[in-house]
Amino acid sequence: MNQDNLAVGLRTARELIGRDKDPILSEDNPFEAMMARFDRAAELLDLDPGMCKVLREPERQIIVAIPVQRDNGELDVFTGYRVLHNSARGPCKGGIRFDLNVTLDEVKALAAWMTWKCAVVNIPFGGAKGAVVCDPSVLSINELERVTRRYTAALIDTLGPDSDIPAPDINTNERVMAWIMDTYSMHMRHSVTSVVTGKPIEMGGSRGRREATGRGCMIVTQEALRHLGLPLRGTKVAIQGFGNVGSVAGELLEQEGLTVVAISDKTGGFYNANGIYVADALSWIREHRYLAGYPNADPISNAELLELDVDVLLPAAVENMITRKNADRIKAKIICEGANGPTTPGADKILDEKGIFVIPDILANAGGVTVSYFEWVQDRAGYFWSEATVIERLNEIIQHSFQDVLSVAKRHDVNMRTAAYMLAMERVAAVHRLRGIYA
Ligand code: NAD
Repeated sequence: MNQDNLAVGLRTARELIGRDKDPILSEDNPFEAMMARFDRAAELLDLDPGMCKVLREPERQIIVAIPVQRDNGELDVFTGYRVLHNSARGPCKGGIRFDLNVTLDEVKALAAWMTWKCAVVNIPFGGAKGAVVCDPSVLSINELERVTRRYTAALIDTLGPDSDIPAPDINTNERVMAWIMDTYSMHMRHSVTSVVTGKPIEMGGSRGRREATGRGCMIVTQEALRHLGLPLRGTKVAIQGFGNVGSVAGELLEQEGLTVVAISDKTGGFYNANGIYVADALSWIREHRYLAGYPNADPISNAELLELDVDVLLPAAVENMITRKNADRIKAKIICEGANGPTTPGADKILDEKGIFVIPDILANAGGVTVSYFEWVQDRAGYFWSEATVIERLNEIIQHSFQDVLSVAKRHDVNMRTAAYMLAMERVAAVHRLRGIYA
């Protein structure tokens, strides 16, 4: 592409999003944050402006009304979303979250992240995400089941093992997946296990799925330490968010000889320079639900945790935790993004200037979707693997993906995030070019 064409391409890309590419504007909106990274990678890839339009636009955005009878007999109507971002490489894959604050923009960003994530680890899926706007903590189990089943029924034409495959996300779990699988199967008149992943093992779930995202975080952290010539033993880790991803990553990193010195959840954080024994913190949570009151470390705030003098910082909570406001005070050498979108584009620049090695979300937390892919493969084959096989294959895919991203980063002299986007977008674009546009 010559300079004039490139200029037109870039202008078109900016016009499409209706603003100049200013990362500051992207600070809080996850879709804007995703698009800021997309634009940068598109520019470096010299991606055709038409292809940019294809890749940025979600294929489908569905909004459904979910009428539900409450236990007291009253009727409520919840709003549900499902966004299918891109299915060029295969069926759309992505979790469902139940959350009072979720927006369509957030679901769009998360769906696009799934497309890039599946492409980074080179599994044959596109990206999707879904949500129900509700506060599950005030719903009874029976009400949650009715919400889930009615949401599934509303999406019955979209869902399917060859089209759209949900999984758990924030505030949804194995039990919710079982209700989705059952509702879908009742409509199909036969059992369809491969319509969701993250199911209970008894009904077609995969061994190793629960630990998969945390395990992926552990693998990429090891790879990053090796790449930077840093030791494993004694390396200090701070983990924000002590749920599925954070706690499993903590346990596995501890097994590898690293020392977890700080942990937190939404009630606050705890620090112990000599190390926090992850199993001990988990048993406290089992008894008390939250970390609050944990006796074997000193209380700190979530903000203080992010700024601790540690080697590895593992944000595993929610979006927008590392921003322009605090990035400058972060001391970690490595940030492993267990959460989706924990770092804003404004913070990226500051972290780069400080020389912090960021393992981006679409690589760092891709272990979950990789084992979801294994689950789908096992369901379709009707043949189930041992945990050792799952772990071995997961290791291979995540290690290779890390090296793939690293070699793009070196080749183009860009950071790991930009490299991951470039790798993923080029893989999706390549399939679009091969398939052509159906008219
Ligand atoms: P989870 O609900 O099991 O745990 C979330 C943890 O974060 C909890 O400890 C919660 O108290 C804490 N938290 C919530 N808000 C917080 C805040 N403002 N400050 C500090 N801590 C806070 O969820 P999870 O499955 O562990 O997911 C965590 C992140 O990882 C999310 O961004 C999710 O999208 C992402 N993710 C999860 C998976 C998976 O397989 N579970 C896969 C890929 C990405």
